[in-house]
Amino acid sequence: MIDVHSMLKMCNLKRTPFRVNLLELFVQTKSSIQTHTIRETFEGRFNKATIYRAIEAFEKNGLIHKVPDINNLLRYALCRENCVNGSHKHTHSHLICNSCRETYCIDQITTPNIPSAIGLKIDYVDLVLNGECFSCQLN
Ligand SMILES: [Zn+2]
Ligand SMILES: [Zn+2]
Ligand SMILES: [Zn+2]
Repeated sequence: MIDVHSMLKMCNLKRTPFRVNLLELFVQTKSSIQTHTIRETFEGRFNKATIYRAIEAFEKNGLIHKVPDINNLLRYALCRENCVNGSHKHTHSHLICNSCRETYCIDQITTPNIPSAIGLKIDYVDLVLNGECFSCQLN
């Protein structure tokens, strides 16, 4: 189990009860979380601004990254790479499951290394896979 307190400390982020809870939510999920689900989870306990500021700080500090969503909604997943200095360097792909509509980080399938051959400057490559996740295939 990853210690969320030391993760926050490593990023010099304030360890408020909310941030601890939010990071725990990301550590515990196998897939990824839509921001509106986060809002629903903490509704009534923390205000919207607090929630969005924490998400922003987590992304900026390399704790979470944006992932594609089946409905193009904002969705984030925990960074399992060492993104701690805030520069996200991912080579994994993302699976959008057409049954459960979740997005999973897939470490086993890496993104192709595309050289900036035609004069484009490529910052990152995202490979989006569409199909069925492991647990949906069992049902
Ligand atoms: Zn990252
Ligand atoms: Zn699924
Ligand atoms: Zn990912």
